[in-house]
Amino acid sequence: MSVALPGAKNLEDLSLLVSLHAGGDRQGPGGDAETRRAIDLAGLNWDPALKIADIGCGTGASALVLAKVLGAQITAIDFLPDFLARLQERAGVLGLSGLIETHAQSMESLCLTDASLDAIWSEGAIYNIGFERGVKEWRRFLKPGGILAVSELTWLTDARPDELETHWVSQYPEVGKASEKMAVLEKNGYTPLGYFVLPEQCWLDAYYRPLQQRFASFLETHGSSQVARKIVAAEEHEIILYEQYRTFVSYGFYIAKKLTPPRNRSTPSTERPMLP
Ligand code: SAH
Repeated sequence: MSVALPGAKNLEDLSLLVSLHAGGDRQGPGGDAETRRAIDLAGLNWDPALKIADIGCGTGASALVLAKVLGAQITAIDFLPDFLARLQERAGVLGLSGLIETHAQSMESLCLTDASLDAIWSEGAIYNIGFERGVKEWRRFLKPGGILAVSELTWLTDARPDELETHWVSQYPEVGKASEKMAVLEKNGYTPLGYFVLPEQCWLDAYYRPLQQRFASFLETHGSSQVARKIVAAEEHEIILYEQYRTFVSYGFYIAKKLTPPRNRSTPSTERPMLP
């Protein structure tokens, strides 16, 4: 799906995952065109005053597009410094370093200011703390009317083959249908603005094929490690499942807007929060 850190049980696992994925332009399914499509659906336009956090940014797939397309100030957050170093290198090559600040921190305890962001972006990463928890906890960092744009593993149909369901439910119990994800957004103080499904090339051409091309050199370096061989076997299994069942599962891209609490007309100076 994307760098499966919940599967990393210790430092050896983690450093192997970093070594397999740090060379990639992205660490999960996605595409520059799809990031641009989400920007359009969010109604964002070029504006150097925009402040955006990209949470779980990896080596910068979406942060670089956001900086280039919007000229915005990007705070790129990931808990793996190796990925951030690669992002900085890439930003330098593209002349975007001035727009991107990297922060090595966990998405579980973000050092961001309340109501400071025009948008929160997170592609293929919110699952690490769970969609609902992320949607709830990150909301306070958005300005009123701010945008949440996240991609999330999503069932495309009402029913699906057992083999596929068993695999993904064991990897990510919160996997659900778009209608369920929309309901989570609505329940938590957002109004959905847009949704689309990542097309197959976002999985195959942009993520799995380049990953498969790195297997050989990864195993050449780490092949004596049983964990390394297991990581490759698990990735290969996931790729086969995707190829077989691609009509049933993908990432959905959810674009939503933070609802502002309505003002109490009788006492204009106080706000009556609509949410607990
Ligand atoms: N958004 C990038 C990376 C997706 S992979 C892309 O689309 O290519 C998921 C990313 O989340 C990885 O870079 C991983 O290091 C990061 N991550 C996982 N758990 C995290 C946590 N608790 N805090 C911060 N980052 C985390």
